[in-house]
Amino acid sequence: MGQITLKGVRKAFGDVEVIPPLDLEINEGEFVVFVGPSGCGKSTLLRLIAGLEDVSGGEIEINGQPSSDLPPAKRGLAMVFQSYALYPHMSVRKNIAFPLKMAKLDAAAAKEKVDNAARILNLTDYLDRRPGQLSGGQRQRVAIGRAIVREPAAFLFDEPLSNLDAALRVNMRLEISELHQKLKTTMIYVTHDQVEAMTMADKIVVLQAGRIEQVGSPLELYRSPRNKFVAGFIGSPK
Ligand code: ADP
Ligand code: MG
Repeated sequence: MGQITLKGVRKAFGDVEVIPPLDLEINEGEFVVFVGPSGCGKSTLLRLIAGLEDVSGGEIEINGQPSSDLPPAKRGLAMVFQSYALYPHMSVRKNIAFPLKMAKLDAAAAKEKVDNAARILNLTDYLDRRPGQLSGGQRQRVAIGRAIVREPAAFLFDEPLSNLDAALRVNMRLEISELHQKLKTTMIYVTHDQVEAMTMADKIVVLQAGRIEQVGSPLELYRSPRNKFVAGFIGSPK
């Protein structure tokens, strides 16, 4: 579970090729960060993997299965949206349980999953509150809880911390890393923030204009950037 392979995947919007054909291997349990400047195609790539956009060519395999015949809901991937995607009129419990309600899981089983996610995220004491009664960090944890209850093969994060202030961002960065250590589930994390990439990733994918400039561990990229772009972006001495 959690193995994702991109083979010659490309994406065009009309005549504009946003992602030229690319290959990428994401291994089970890996924390992979897509990093690059704004507009380089990070969100598009994540949305292709999630199935929220159709590929214009190539194939994405999830656990060895071609995804072309897998609708988004069948891919076993959970996208974590920014915290403002919560339902303001629902309690934390109901927000976290929402995907299970959609899946028509019975109430007792759903409660157990929500309680478990709340324990993992230290939200147990906040289950009866509404999102408006929570801090920014707690709201982001609720958004993550909504992904956890689905027990996905991989979590997909698209700049989840960009709304938070600097101190909270550092905090949440650590929390998401801890979550990865606890769950050991594949995570794909999109950011334009080099520090987030360097501190969180097992594997960094540096993108520029839809192309992969380099793939490697933070240390590999720092020590041996392949070109000036990677060196400049990662801030390594070369
Ligand atoms: P990033 O997330 O790295 O900032 P995006 O993946 O959002 O970049 O966008 C990559 C490029 O694709 C940009 O040039 C953007 O304008 C373009 N793009 C994204 N979505 C669409 C769309 N639905 N229609 C047309 N162009 C799009
Ligand atoms: Mg984006």
